[in-house]
Amino acid sequence: MQCPICGAPAKHLSESLDGVDVTCPRCGEYQVSENCFNGLLRLDLDGRTQALRAARAAAPPGTRPTISSLAQPPWWQRVWRSWRGAA
Ligand SMILES: [Zn+2]
Repeated sequence: MQCPICGAPAKHLSESLDGVDVTCPRCGEYQVSENCFNGLLRLDLDGRTQALRAARAAAPPGTRPTISSLAQPPWWQRVWRSWRGAA
């Protein structure tokens, strides 16, 4: 299985009740909540890296960071993407 953040082969990836637990040689240990997983995969590498960085900053020391919310891209980017997708 691949790391959903950086795409490197993950050492460990398992689904749990709360989401997906990942251990990645590059990103370390983290968890992605169920409702964020698909949204995370839709972000580009930059967005995914930022989501992990934000989760790390929010996690108390000694705990595994959990990605449980994603920053929304700016509205114009969503409009641009849907417009491109329709064309
Ligand atoms: Zn990774």
